[in-house]
Amino acid sequence: AKDDGRNTVRFFTREMNAKLQKNKEILTDLTESLTQEHFELYYQPLFTIEQDTLVGAEALIRWHHPEKGMVPPDKFIAVAEKSGLINELGDWVLAQACREIKNFVNVGITDFKIAINISPVQFRRKDLLQHMLMILARHDVSPDFIELEITEGAVMDNVDQAIETMQALHDAGFQLAMDDFGTGYSSLSYLKRFPIQKMKIDRSFISDLENDDDSKSITTAIIQMSHSLGLHVLAEGVETEAQLHYLQDEKCDYVQGYYTGKPMPASAFIKKFSVSEES
Ligand code: C2E
Ligand code: CA
Ligand code: CA
Ligand code: CA
Repeated sequence: AKDDGRNTVRFFTREMNAKLQKNKEILTDLTESLTQEHFELYYQPLFTIEQDTLVGAEALIRWHHPEKGMVPPDKFIAVAEKSGLINELGDWVLAQACREIKNFVNVGITDFKIAINISPVQFRRKDLLQHMLMILARHDVSPDFIELEITEGAVMDNVDQAIETMQALHDAGFQLAMDDFGTGYSSLSYLKRFPIQKMKIDRSFISDLENDDDSKSITTAIIQMSHSLGLHVLAEGVETEAQLHYLQDEKCDYVQGYYTGKPMPASAFIKKFSVSEES
């Protein structure tokens, strides 16, 4: 019993060292993979709530690690954010999306937007707008094709600065969506000042819709509040018909989830949604 405290300390130290070591490895591998382009964007379709129209896709990064195979973003985005490498990674994401947007247009997919996740670290860059416009110009793609997904965490620590940034982005032609809405700490009084066009209801509320009345109430409240603020609403993570029906009844505008379409490589997206010329 006398050693307990010391063992605990030693245990935590060992755990922490292991974690630090692992993060260092991930960072080394990430840096290497950036130069070798071991990344890919998957595209998850976004539909109108009646499922009759494709309105766009969310671009989701995939890492093909040379030894470990596919590593999901949850395993490396945080490491990239801590080190600042997320800026370079984000540049690659935008550039790759530009290249693929042109391919989508070429196969007759029109009137769509590609939603890109912007890390809070990227969002705080002073030169974010200029920098993104430069990448778009280099690829000859208009900001009209891009919707930027921003989380509450990115905007809440300096609200006035964040509003200025969002306004500048929107003025330049980007659409703005609030991602994972409901999980952060946005205050309602700020919400109406945010120059955003869309609210994305976090998956956690949607997955509980069928067995939790509170999640139903929250979902309905978010839809109604968003509409009264003049915003469109999208529900994330829709996996069942029952969830979709609830959202249709509540007049949610857009849907995204495994039920309507999983994230897929650009080639599969083109195969599925290109306007075919066969009769
Ligand atoms: P997110 O922005 O909330 O993206 C939605 C996540 O939910 C994606 O996970 C998607 O595959 C998953 N998803 C979609 N529909 C369903 C569903 O019906 N059921 C379930 N269980 N999951 C569903 P993914 O691709 O693993 O990405 C995880 C997170 O990593 C993203 O969450 C986003 O925060 C981050 N991320 C992904 N790509 C990028 C990127 O290019 N840049 C940055 N900064 N972050 C990214
Ligand atoms: Ca997102
Ligand atoms: Ca989300
Ligand atoms: Ca999420």
